[in-house]
Amino acid sequence: MRRKMAAGNWKMNGLRAQLGELDDLGSAHPNASCDIVICPPATLVAPAVARTKDSTVSIGGQDCHTQVKGAHTGDVSAPMLADAGVTYIITGHSERRQDHHETDDDVSAKTQAVWAAGLTSILCIGESKAQREADETLDVIARQLAASVPQDASADNLVIAYEPIWAIGTGLVPTPEQIDEVHKFMRATLQDRFGDQIGNGIRLLYGGSVNAGNASTIFTIADVDGALVGGASLKSSDFSQIISALEHSNA
Ligand code: PEP
Repeated sequence: MRRKMAAGNWKMNGLRAQLGELDDLGSAHPNASCDIVICPPATLVAPAVARTKDSTVSIGGQDCHTQVKGAHTGDVSAPMLADAGVTYIITGHSERRQDHHETDDDVSAKTQAVWAAGLTSILCIGESKAQREADETLDVIARQLAASVPQDASADNLVIAYEPIWAIGTGLVPTPEQIDEVHKFMRATLQDRFGDQIGNGIRLLYGGSVNAGNASTIFTIADVDGALVGGASLKSSDFSQIISALEHSNA
């Protein structure tokens, strides 16, 4: 039985004043039956960890360097994030792949850095609009899974988020059938590569314009173990509704 996960990615949003959202989230879900993760910007990681010390909310980083330390101005390493108290680090988000030209090899190296630091990677993959329209979605997913996911994957160190690029921040969401097709394909691919125990244990999230209105429908899809949420994770009142929908899907 895979434990469900609701992960929020604040991206480059949030000043210290926003940390109160974490208090509200923790108090709204004191006995959460799913994992709740917030990935704030790097400046807020340490205070967010302190703020959630006694709560059901875990904190994650949004990215890390492949190296442990060195002359890489502006970058943050996985051991630094671990030292600050995170449990998770997002790797391969499409905004990093686009804005910073990160390749599957980079994502694989970053994911290995996350694992070496003893943390869990929330690894993102997903097709562009042009690839979806050209009917290349499953080929893209197969390629990204093969090249971005390192060999030492386990149910504990890896969560995969299927995030179609065209659905991120656009209000567009794939049909349940389209999400179902990709999640089934990811599950079968992971089973083939890692065997049934690991392949069945790795959690698969859907991400892309998830909100309080569409979450319940998305969470009925068999291989969807939760969501990676951008915009709707910024306010605890919105994210809390998504968490509740996920908890009810457990029942
Ligand atoms: C994301 O950036 O991972 C994301 C899913 O964003 P949004 O929910 O805003 O589409």
